[in-house]
Amino acid sequence: MDKKTSQIIDFVRGLYNIENEFIPLHKPFLEGNEKKYLNECIDSTFVSSVGKFVNRFEKNLEEYTGSKHAIVCVNGTNAIHVALRLAGVKEGDEVITQALTFIATANAIMYSNAIPVFVDVDIDTMGLSPKALKLFLDDNAVVKNNQCYNKKTGRRIKACLPMHTFGHACRIEELLKVCADYNIELVEDAAESMGSFLGDKHLGTFGKLSVISFNGNKIMTTGGGGVILTNDIELAQKAKHLTTQCKVQHSWEYVHDDIGYNYRMPNINAAIGVAQLEQLPYFIKSKREIAKKYASFFSDLKGISFFDERTEEESNFWLNAIILEDKKSKDEFLKQTNSLGIMTRPIWKLMDKLPMFLNCPKGNLDNSEWLEDRVINIPSSVI
Ligand SMILES: *Cc1c(COP(=O)(O)O)cnc(C)c1O
Repeated sequence: MDKKTSQIIDFVRGLYNIENEFIPLHKPFLEGNEKKYLNECIDSTFVSSVGKFVNRFEKNLEEYTGSKHAIVCVNGTNAIHVALRLAGVKEGDEVITQALTFIATANAIMYSNAIPVFVDVDIDTMGLSPKALKLFLDDNAVVKNNQCYNKKTGRRIKACLPMHTFGHACRIEELLKVCADYNIELVEDAAESMGSFLGDKHLGTFGKLSVISFNGNKIMTTGGGGVILTNDIELAQKAKHLTTQCKVQHSWEYVHDDIGYNYRMPNINAAIGVAQLEQLPYFIKSKREIAKKYASFFSDLKGISFFDERTEEESNFWLNAIILEDKKSKDEFLKQTNSLGIMTRPIWKLMDKLPMFLNCPKGNLDNSEWLEDRVINIPSSVI
């Protein structure tokens, strides 16, 4: 093993104060009121998707994020599906997203019977690049009757779905401008960004709609869960309607006025969420301290750089990431750390290389390719 890798392993073991045992990438921290609220929830018999914790969790999320409305769902992937439908995405439309993202982003587009279009990211944010987006649209798009079309495929480009990678903000304000010029709706995949801010605004409050995930591996969890954020009351009401089978309010009749989904978050999950959100300020503080220690450690290590936040943002540092010199050193590092009980993971394989998406339109993906060969996530659990 090379000297650098063993130095890193020693540092991680020291950071977590774990000498011999396995160190996971990210484990949930459940030491607050989770059990208390779960017991209350069970005692009340309201364990399914109606109950006081669902409403309380939504209200608390609205307060924390500053979003006017929060609609909680069974998971983030389904929440993105609904958000795209609310943004007006229809069968056969194209939705622009980044090739460097978790599979859920692209799957949610497919659930909408739409076609993902892959555009490059910026190296310093790992999020969708406004320059690459503009270049792609200038080359490929035309606006007719207030609708944007892809000249090459003839399909409508209805929405853009950028992702805030590992809790760091993409250049969302610039992306909004490009989208406005082309009449494209912007939906934020802020799945990884609970507790992250750009300026004084929480990520996920820039687009018309956005989604945050509360999966077990995210910065805070509800077991499984997600939330749709929007400032638009009409969209919020529609989101609630769509996620509850489009049931029309009535004291006893079963009336449904559209094809809906059973996507509403159960009270049990919301109970955990309320307890987790109470601890979020502590999680963020701990994560930011860990990131600071990593940043300072890696600044002295030649050939490996730490993926830090930009000055204008306050990231949640959900997963810490390092950038290695090349693919060979990345593969070697993964092999050695994982075999020695330090869990590390490569960044995602690019979406355009997966069998389901081989034929999707795409722009130049040089930055994505470069990052795919070099980025590794290292242990990031709250201490
Ligand atoms: C986690 C995640 C999702 C999906 O969230 P789930 O709650 O797991 O369905 C979507 N997009 C990204 C980028 C994610 O990391």
